[in-house]
Amino acid sequence: MASQNFTRQPTSTPARGSMPPPPTTPGMPPRSLSGLRGRSTDAATPQPLPSGVGGQQQRYNYSTDGRVDSTYPQPSEPPPPPPQWLNQAIAILHERYPHDNFEAMMRHSAVDRNTQQPVRMDTLQAGQAPPPHVKWQYLPRIRCNDCPGKLYTAVPSSAVEGFEIHLKNRHHKERVEQRRRAGPSV
Ligand SMILES: [Zn+2]
Repeated sequence: MASQNFTRQPTSTPARGSMPPPPTTPGMPPRSLSGLRGRSTDAATPQPLPSGVGGQQQRYNYSTDGRVDSTYPQPSEPPPPPPQWLNQAIAILHERYPHDNFEAMMRHSAVDRNTQQPVRMDTLQAGQAPPPHVKWQYLPRIRCNDCPGKLYTAVPSSAVEGFEIHLKNRHHKERVEQRRRAGPSV
């Protein structure tokens, strides 16, 4: 009962006369917030990517697993950049596996609306409108350039660990070794 009383009491009531008028300007952007953050001692925010990439990514609406809705046929404009979590995973992996040749990419793909699973293009009728259960998306993938033709699914929760399994694969390692023995590529 004593504590109830205690918490309800305001600790200090500012003297009204000495206070400047409250800064209530509704149209103003919250400039004071960013100003505060800039002044704080910990000004170093982790920024592994050039800011241009981040700005470009904001043009697109990424799903939580990094997909971007698209149309068919594939738009002539370049695909959206990979989501930031994938770029970060690739950066980590390049650091751990400096001799391996792989990259993030966005793959234009047919997707089943119900299962969200990619639909193989060869199951679709060429030249005909895709069936109503098919939609089109760019899907985040990792391409291994040492193992041509292979694309690997990347998910935010385990993008590094998932592709690391491939990088540790014996066949992959052999290909990397072969390429390195063949001499430096251009
Ligand atoms: Zn590989």
